[in-house]
Amino acid sequence: MKKVLIVDDDIVIIRFLKHMISHQLHFPCEGAKSMMEAKKLLKDGSQYAIALVDANLPDALEGECIDLVLDKKIPVIMMSNTMDSELHEKMIQKDILDYVNKDNINSFDYTKRLLQFVYSFAGSEVLLVDDSKTSRLQIKVSLNKLPLILHEAADGIEALEVLREHPTTQLVITDKNMPNMGGLELIQEIRKNHNINQLAVIGISASNEPMMSVEFLKNGANDFITKPFMPEEMLSRVISNLEMLYYIKLAEKSAVKDFLTGLYNRRYLYETGKKLYENAKREHLSIVVAMIDIDYFKKINDRYGHEAGDMALKYLGELFIKEFRDSDVVTRYGGEEFCIILTNTQMNHATKVMEGICSKVEDMRIEINKISFRMTLSIGLNDKMLGSFDQMIASADEKLYRAKNEGRNRVVT
Ligand code: GH3
Ligand code: MG
Ligand code: MG
Repeated sequence: MKKVLIVDDDIVIIRFLKHMISHQLHFPCEGAKSMMEAKKLLKDGSQYAIALVDANLPDALEGECIDLVLDKKIPVIMMSNTMDSELHEKMIQKDILDYVNKDNINSFDYTKRLLQFVYSFAGSEVLLVDDSKTSRLQIKVSLNKLPLILHEAADGIEALEVLREHPTTQLVITDKNMPNMGGLELIQEIRKNHNINQLAVIGISASNEPMMSVEFLKNGANDFITKPFMPEEMLSRVISNLEMLYYIKLAEKSAVKDFLTGLYNRRYLYETGKKLYENAKREHLSIVVAMIDIDYFKKINDRYGHEAGDMALKYLGELFIKEFRDSDVVTRYGGEEFCIILTNTQMNHATKVMEGICSKVEDMRIEINKISFRMTLSIGLNDKMLGSFDQMIASADEKLYRAKNEGRNRVVT
C-alpha cells in the first residue's frame, strides 16, 4: 500500500496526523520536518499516494516544497495557518488537491475524508456529458486532481454508448440542453438499467432556471449543481456522491454477512443455496450440504466465559475460510452451527474433506486471556438432491443429529 507523506516543521502536527492516519484510517505514513528531509524521502516518489504539505517551512517559505512534491506527480493537500484570499489565489495556481486550515481542528475531518477518498476511490470512472467542450474542460479541471478515470460525451446518445463500453462507470455528470438527446432523457434511459444506488447522476443546471434542479431530481438524478460553480464545490459533490454509493454497497454486503465471524449469514445461504440447487439439477451437477455444530459449546461458555466462546467461533470461521474453496458457500447458520455447500463435489471426497476439518479442529488450541482450550465438531452430510434445497438442509441436519447421538466428534453421511 502506498504511503501518506506529511511535511510540517511543527512536530505536534506531524504526531497528530500520524496518529489519525495510522490508527483511524490504517494507512502507512511518514513525516518530514523540512523540505530537505522531504527531498530525501522523495528520492523514490512512487511510494507515496498523497502528501500533506505545510505552505511555509523554515527552508521553504514560499511553498517551494509543494512544487517539489507536485513535480513528483503526487497529489498535495496544502496545510496553512492563515486562509486569506491571497493564499487562495496561490493555491489555485499551484494545482493542489485542496487546502486545510491548521488553526481549525475540524478541518482535519475533511482531510480524513479526502485521504480516504484518494485510497478507496482511485480509478473510479466518471462520465462527463456536455455539448460544450469548454464546460467539460471546466469540470475536468475541477476533478483532475482526484485519481479518477474521466470519460466524456457530447450528448445523451453518445453518453449511453460510453456507458455500454464502460459498464463500471459509477457517476455521470450531465448538462440539460444538448442536441440529439438532452440530460433529462439521458437520465430516464440510465434509470431503466441502473437504480440510484448503483449509478449516481449529478445534473448541472443554470442558476437562472430554478425549476431545473427539481426536474433533474424528479427524473432520477441523485444531485444537482448550479452553474457557475466553484471548483471546490464540484469536487466535494463528486466525493459525496461516490461516498454514498460506497456506503450503500457496504451496507448491502453487511446485510448478508455475520458480524462476529465475517462469514455469510443464513439469509445468504438460502438465497444462494436455492440458485445452486436449481442449477445443479438442470446441469446434473453434484452438490453436498454440510451441517456443522460445535460439541458441548454451552460448556465452553460456562467454563471459560462468553468472550472465549466468541473467540472459538472466530477461530472456526478463519479455519473454514482457509480450508474451503472460493466456490464453496461457507455460512454461519446461527449460534454455534455452520452450513457449507460444497459445489461440484462427490460425497466420498466431501466426507474426506470434513473428516480432515474434524481432526484439524480437534488439534486446534484456542487461546484467550492466558487460558487455552480445545473443541470438537459433529458434522452431517447430504448429497441427495431431494425435492428442494430446504429438504437437503433438513436431511443434513438429521445426519448431524445422528452424529451427536453416536458420540460426537464425527462425520455422518
Ligand atoms: P451439543 O454438543 O449437543 O451441540 O451441545 P451444545 O452445548 O453445543 O448445544 P446447545 O444448543 O445446548 O448450546 C449452544 C450454546 O451456544 C448456547 C448458546 O448460549 C451458545 N451460543 C450461541 N451463539 C453464541 C455466540 O454468538 N457466542 C457465544 N459465546 N455463545 C453462543
Ligand atoms: Mg453444539
Ligand atoms: Mg446447536
